Amino acid sequence: MSITEARFEVQLLMAHALRSNRAWLLAHTDESLSAGTAAEYGGYLQRRLQGEPMAYIFGEKEFYGLLLTVNADVLIPRPETELLVDLALECMPAAETPHVLDLGTGSGAIVLALAKLRPWSRCLAVDISADALRIAEANAARLQLQNVRFQESDWWKNISLGSKFNVIVSNPPYIAAGDRHLQTGDLRFEPAQALAAGATGLDDLQTIINGAPSYLKKNGWLLLEHGFDQGNAVRQLFAAAGFKEIQTLRDLAGCERVSTGRIKPD
Ligand code: GLN
Repeated sequence: MSITEARFEVQLLMAHALRSNRAWLLAHTDESLSAGTAAEYGGYLQRRLQGEPMAYIFGEKEFYGLLLTVNADVLIPRPETELLVDLALECMPAAETPHVLDLGTGSGAIVLALAKLRPWSRCLAVDISADALRIAEANAARLQLQNVRFQESDWWKNISLGSKFNVIVSNPPYIAAGDRHLQTGDLRFEPAQALAAGATGLDDLQTIINGAPSYLKKNGWLLLEHGFDQGNAVRQLFAAAGFKEIQTLRDLAGCERVSTGRIKPD
């Protein structure tokens, strides 16, 4: 980390201890710190020095203009996932009441952004983790969104078979279990269950793609985030499961990041 980045983080942590923001901090450098504030700041600094992500220390992360509560039970929403939201919004025209499913919702970031921008949609969000669902539900309440239902489910297992959706989205775990990145940076503190998916990282993507046709309405869309090097494999899985109009879109870093496909009538 550069000195500039380190100074920026330190300022954010001190501003957090002061219940203020960085602009206030920079404009009030002559103010003194109370003993309580200094101790609180010291605690945050210790946690950061141990490597804990800034978002867990703040207990919050901004995603798609929404402020979300996060803790170590959920993956920290990433900026590249905003591409998935952009693409899903395009699949939800104003004239319809889209039924939306988010698989492995975590903090609820994706489904809550969709529910907020398409208030006429009806959304279901599932996760295998009851702890994650508690955070997602708290975020829905915090954002006063009433068009999202939450349910515990290991991917498709508890989703009733009659349910059909116009749009299914997911940012599943997709990192290979042996990938050394799992031992670095923020990832060390995030739930492994939200990051790693078998030897190739494709296990959960495959489960989702193979199950999706039974739960999609005609012309319905599946949109999935995946690793920068998984585009080819994911497109093949989409094709094998009968999807049409298969496409992969690149994120702002230029990496293949989201693949989409739809089920067409016979
Ligand atoms: N994009 C995340 C990362 O590489 C991984 C998120 C995921 O597995 N869904 O840090």
